[in-house]
Amino acid sequence: MGIPQTQRAAVVEQPGPDGKCVIKEIPVPVPNDDEILVKLSWSGLCHTDVHLIKGDWGNMGLNMTAKVSGHEGVGVVVSVGKNVKRFQVGDRAGIKWVADTCGNCEFCTNGVDELHCARQHNSGATTEGTFQQYVTTSGRYATKVPDGVSDEEAGPILCGGVTAYTALKRSEVKPGQWVVLPGAGGGLGHLAIQYAKAMGMRVIAIDGGNEKGELCKKLGAEVYIDFLAEKDIAAKVMELTMYGAHGVVVTAASRAAYEMAPNLLRPRGTVVCVGLPKDDFRAGGTPMQMVLKKLNVVGSVTATMKDVDEALEFTARGLVKPILVKGTMDDINSFVEKMLAGQLPGRAVIDLWA
Ligand code: NAD
Ligand code: ZN
Repeated sequence: MGIPQTQRAAVVEQPGPDGKCVIKEIPVPVPNDDEILVKLSWSGLCHTDVHLIKGDWGNMGLNMTAKVSGHEGVGVVVSVGKNVKRFQVGDRAGIKWVADTCGNCEFCTNGVDELHCARQHNSGATTEGTFQQYVTTSGRYATKVPDGVSDEEAGPILCGGVTAYTALKRSEVKPGQWVVLPGAGGGLGHLAIQYAKAMGMRVIAIDGGNEKGELCKKLGAEVYIDFLAEKDIAAKVMELTMYGAHGVVVTAASRAAYEMAPNLLRPRGTVVCVGLPKDDFRAGGTPMQMVLKKLNVVGSVTATMKDVDEALEFTARGLVKPILVKGTMDDINSFVEKMLAGQLPGRAVIDLWA
């Protein structure tokens, strides 16, 4: 396949409050023996990219080297390093937030904890991300995209969808029980509604405004609560659920959402922390609340390769369908501002060749 020397990329300039992406012509990277070169077609835009562009989290203790954000990338393999067995030229591949792990440490080998590998690489942070036309990535850790899932739909599942899916599993909410989803109209949230429904849960969606409300109800939420209009969200949830919800999965990057979450639970309920606000505060309830209600507060971070395969399978089976707002590299900055204003329902995806 003809591989060009240079390509278009959305490069992050001056990460910080005024950070933005600038389109540049940069070299096409060359894979090493363990890597594949993927010609990307689409990439999702996750709020994590927004945090990185806006410098919300500092350097997180990481050696931040990446100039290009993006970690929901999908495309076709155009070149394969000589040690790679899993991929051939022409296969479809997906690139995730965790782009690679060491494969050998205690966390990588116990079957459930690879996300905690200390030697992992993160797309858009410690390795170049997916807002570019070509990316090199691990031939061992890239995801195989199943038939029946288009590139533009697979992208949002690789982070948004699978993060929602694993967080719902972490909630331990059972079929027929209530889960509350603050942030339900956003990228992770609108996928969480659909996974929750497919897993038999009853969904109370919380977000702001009518457009998000329409979306949440269309996707299967039994009830939508508009946090911009409802004064006493806890009372409303109690009224609906009698004793409170069994779980709350907080995908909103909002202190208010975290402070509210324990108040929505019934005894032995679980708050799952997913959203990552820039403010410095603690998630959880008061000691009295935690003790008397025997509450659980747990965190959930993206997903293992196995969970990613499972999450994609839901889409291949028609159970989870990302709602897409489509644009080009030139739209990234305006999409970022829309997400910050809470005005981007569903997931933005970038056509990298338009
Ligand atoms: P998004 O902007 O698409 O969605 C967030 C939603 O929260 C928006 O619809 C917004 O209107 C809503 N919201 C804001 N304040 C709210 C409130 N007080 N109550 C209810 N809803 C409120 O963002 P996203 O891409 O879904 O990402 C959400 C967060 O999750 C980000 O902080 C991101 O970094 C984080 N994230 C975490 C993981 C993980 O592994 N834990 C993975 C991916 C993303
Ligand atoms: Zn993400």
